Amino acid sequence: MRIRRLSAFFWATCIIAFIFILYVVTDLTFKLPSIKPAMVEFDDSKWSSFESKLRHIENELSEHHAVVGEIKTAMDQIVDQSSDNHYVKKPRIMKKQSKLREFKVVGDEPPRMPFKTKMNMSYCPINQQTSKTDIQMLSIYERITFDDKDGGVWKQGWEIEYKENQWSSKNKLKVFIVPHSHNDPGWLKTFENYYKTQTKAIFTNMVEKLMEGIGRKFIWAEISFLSLWWNSDATEKEKAAFINLLKAGKIEIVTGGWVMNDEANSHWLAIIQQLTTGHQWLTENLGYTPRNSWAIDPFGHSSSQPYILKLAGYENSLIQRVHYRIKKELALNRHLEFKWRQLWDGVGKTDMFTHMMPFYSYDVPHSCGPDPKICCQFDFKRLPGNGVTCPWKIGPKKIIQKNVGERASLILDQWRKKAQLYRSNVVLFPLGDDFRYDRANEWDHQYQNYEMLIDYINNNDAWNTEVQIGTLNDYFKAVHEEMKLSDFPVLSGDFFTYADRNQHYWSGYFTSRPFYKNMDRVLLAYLRAAEVITSQAISSNSVTYILSLQLRDRVEQARRALALFQHHDGVTGTSRDDVVVDYAKKMHQAIKNSQSVIQQAAYYLLKQPVVQDQTQEDIYFEVDDIWRKHDEIPARITIALDEVSPSRRIVLYNALAFKRHDILTVFVSSPHVGEVFDPEGNPIMAQISPVVSGESRLGFAANKFQLSFPVTVDSLAITVYSVSLRDSMSLNKYTSFARVRVYNADYWNIDLPKMFPIEQPTARLSEDVTVQAGNSTRILCNKHGLIKAIVSTDGRTTPVHMDFVQYGTQKMIDNNSGAYLFIPDGPAQQFNLDAYPELVITEGPFKATLYSALVGPRAAEVILAVSVYNNPSLLQSEVEISNTLMIDPKVDDLELAMRFSTGIKNGDVFYTDVNGMQIIKRRYFEKLPIQANFYPLGASAFIEDESTRLTVLTLTPLGVAALQPGQMEIMQDRRLSRDDNRGMSQGVLDNVRTRHTFKLIVERAHSPCSAKPFEHPSGYLTLGAHVTQQMLLQPLITMHYTANENTPRPTYSRSIVNAADIVLASYRSHVAVKNKDSSTYQGMGMTLQRVHLDTCYGNAAISTWYPKGDGQVQLTDLVDVQPERVFDSSLTFLHIRNPVSDATIVLCPMEVRSVFINQTLKHG
Ligand SMILES: [Zn+2]
Repeated sequence: MRIRRLSAFFWATCIIAFIFILYVVTDLTFKLPSIKPAMVEFDDSKWSSFESKLRHIENELSEHHAVVGEIKTAMDQIVDQSSDNHYVKKPRIMKKQSKLREFKVVGDEPPRMPFKTKMNMSYCPINQQTSKTDIQMLSIYERITFDDKDGGVWKQGWEIEYKENQWSSKNKLKVFIVPHSHNDPGWLKTFENYYKTQTKAIFTNMVEKLMEGIGRKFIWAEISFLSLWWNSDATEKEKAAFINLLKAGKIEIVTGGWVMNDEANSHWLAIIQQLTTGHQWLTENLGYTPRNSWAIDPFGHSSSQPYILKLAGYENSLIQRVHYRIKKELALNRHLEFKWRQLWDGVGKTDMFTHMMPFYSYDVPHSCGPDPKICCQFDFKRLPGNGVTCPWKIGPKKIIQKNVGERASLILDQWRKKAQLYRSNVVLFPLGDDFRYDRANEWDHQYQNYEMLIDYINNNDAWNTEVQIGTLNDYFKAVHEEMKLSDFPVLSGDFFTYADRNQHYWSGYFTSRPFYKNMDRVLLAYLRAAEVITSQAISSNSVTYILSLQLRDRVEQARRALALFQHHDGVTGTSRDDVVVDYAKKMHQAIKNSQSVIQQAAYYLLKQPVVQDQTQEDIYFEVDDIWRKHDEIPARITIALDEVSPSRRIVLYNALAFKRHDILTVFVSSPHVGEVFDPEGNPIMAQISPVVSGESRLGFAANKFQLSFPVTVDSLAITVYSVSLRDSMSLNKYTSFARVRVYNADYWNIDLPKMFPIEQPTARLSEDVTVQAGNSTRILCNKHGLIKAIVSTDGRTTPVHMDFVQYGTQKMIDNNSGAYLFIPDGPAQQFNLDAYPELVITEGPFKATLYSALVGPRAAEVILAVSVYNNPSLLQSEVEISNTLMIDPKVDDLELAMRFSTGIKNGDVFYTDVNGMQIIKRRYFEKLPIQANFYPLGASAFIEDESTRLTVLTLTPLGVAALQPGQMEIMQDRRLSRDDNRGMSQGVLDNVRTRHTFKLIVERAHSPCSAKPFEHPSGYLTLGAHVTQQMLLQPLITMHYTANENTPRPTYSRSIVNAADIVLASYRSHVAVKNKDSSTYQGMGMTLQRVHLDTCYGNAAISTWYPKGDGQVQLTDLVDVQPERVFDSSLTFLHIRNPVSDATIVLCPMEVRSVFINQTLKHG
């Protein structure tokens, strides 16, 4: 056997050598051309010769790739059987047809996809038929009664018993005391304020005190704080000491994210941003790789988080805030440690080993064992004179010779009891709390007292116990040494909605401070676009080295602001008012920085040859989304044209990896501005509508009009449309003026130019109205302007009743809503609005909007704008809802929700997304209170039956419930006068006017459809809903030329990838990677996700506009990259693996993959 293998190897080597020699001989003259961005300068006669040259070069390049590919394939088969790409039979690279790049928008045909071998899907973990796990969270919810029996000292559990002879000298109880300090990057104080007053001292003491004892250890989580200390106050000596402690394993960095992220509101793209920001800092400054994740404070745990951790290369994770009844259920079966598997994974490829803490809190009283009264006595910070005491009235005693025996046996009893809840003999005892170890004497108290206890216990052979101060890694290592992974159960599902006691469900924070939750997503979109376009500009050599660093720095500021806000008191809306303002100001600056980066990078991509004198201050384009203040809805640019500057360019950037078709709206100063030209200079149809504005009453804005027209932008491309002044006398066959209807407007004069056909009945509106744009979906609205039904283009009517409802709060002591908790005083009441709200309808060929001023006295003002678009590419019935709302500041306690009631027979089943990454099945449970039935709505939710599916997409993360069959209810804002006793000591009264945008999609089921079995716990969006969701999250970046340039219209279109099921999660430049020899490489990092899409619902024809890919993405088709520089990587670039064959990333449905593109940048 061995001889045969050797001879095979010999012959293969000969063949390769032969091919290689042949290649060298036949192609000596070949030089790798630098791929320049495709530039179109129209009217340029040199263009065609350039194009043919480029084609020639590309032909050569493909041939080169083909030959190299063959060599690589052969090599791979021999030397690298264990390649990570194992679910694809390595394709024999066929000689590809030469690729013609698409340089411009040419009609709507999908681009030619290069030849690829069909991927073998049988290796993919996705399994829609079964999802066999030991513990399925939805099934647990169905099964248990959620009783809340008094368990004795462990109130939410039971009296734990054990036998002393469980342990022996060969089978000892192993206890790991893990000192930690939980540092919130903003909560009651701002991030910087916490640092100054507490965290800085923690670090100073850490390096000093850990050196004082041999066995002393500590864990640290928040890199935002560590980096601040490192870069501002740490001395060289302290840094050296810290690095030594890290190397010696005395300090462990757990998770190593910028923050400990929220898991309900955070979008997964933001989670990977915050994680990568932390990891990049660790790589560059400490060369450190975290292995274990530590999430003790997020308010409920998401099933996307373990997948993200898995992708990032973690080995173990720990979670804490889980519903007390679920904890008890898992503890009863010793299921508190499990392999957490993705809902869609039928193979077990995504398992993340997870430890769930069993008790009420992560503080010391709830960590050593079941009895807080005992455990509190072992929190030596609470020794007299330190300002902290035990609420159970018995404080700690200093350990001395006289009491050590009694004290040791007391805590040992707790540890032994805790051990009964887990399968191994290893006990984890986290020793810490919020901002602990800030004073030197706390280090002394904790370590010295425990050192005495440890000494005593370890020397008492009869106890068969081995105690040590350890790190999280020490704990997990000991567990895995004792147990096999197969000894642990498999769990799927998530841990929402969290309750810590009684009926205190933490579903309020899904919605608290929604203005900033919206701002989070806006920033995410800008940051993502800024990263992607910067990377495009750098990889195509369009920016100078100096400018690339300046772009990087602004992107990094934006990234850190977004990362900071992912903290579990940031995007959650659970910090003090001044801290909210601090986060918002940082995000405001981050939006501006991202916009500045985008416009510069766009300019340089368009401008060829490369502009040499590039500076950071250059402003070429203004981004059409002006954030004047950190707490104000942004404004739009109004294009003013006159004889002097009669036309304006509009630059559009599409940061998505598929070609998009949108109806774009810009503001213009006059209805005579209205001639629109496409990128090739041809006039196109456009619509002019009045701008309806107002906060509680409607009105037409003076000298401002909406100009709407269809646009098409390739994937990752920049294109330029232009608008120009029209001769006011002549009629323009390309421009349509919206038909305007005004109802119930008694107090204002309509002052609109006469070209708008206006209808204003004097009578009150008493019947339904319909709204339609061209042949778009039609909406039927009631006399309040609320949607009643949606009529698809084929004439089918789906009743969808829209409503606003409101909740009050219970007002008992320790039982009221607050920033965290939602404790309504009963079912929602109707939001009482004016009988005859002012209503304006504008309708044209591309866009139609109904505006309604819904004013509920002593409740809220809502300006509702319901729009339909005539976008032929989005073939589903789709409605856009925009709510601009403000809860009346005179009202004490009110929560406003938007509700949709339909005839869909979904029973109690509905689906919500998890961090925008995947979709989970939920059920309404009557046995649970209203607040327990609310779930995080990160991006999408739907209900469905055999014939219809209704999907809601949101930009703002909010709370969602389906309290009745056929219903979905989405929280909008909350104003609360009381504190809910979770530490904030204030209500939520800092409401600002907020705008939420939703898309409502009605889709028909196909019959027959091989649907997923009813039992399956996950769901998927349709292609149409997915495309709309991507376009909602990542809007076209609209920019205006600041100068009146007379140069031809350029276009930048380099990518030929057009796969709507591929999400370009991130593409970042200046990624640092540590090599095994500890040298650092620089390069680009890219992460792609392939979504799985539901095919039972929706219009299949949408794929002619938005084609799905085959799961194979050739990077050279997407961006400028040298194929031999692409390496498979973990999510945050801590682990770089094999080269990616032919630079082709292969993705199974639902998979996420990252690559590192080694491109150490050169000066000049
Ligand atoms: Zn916290």
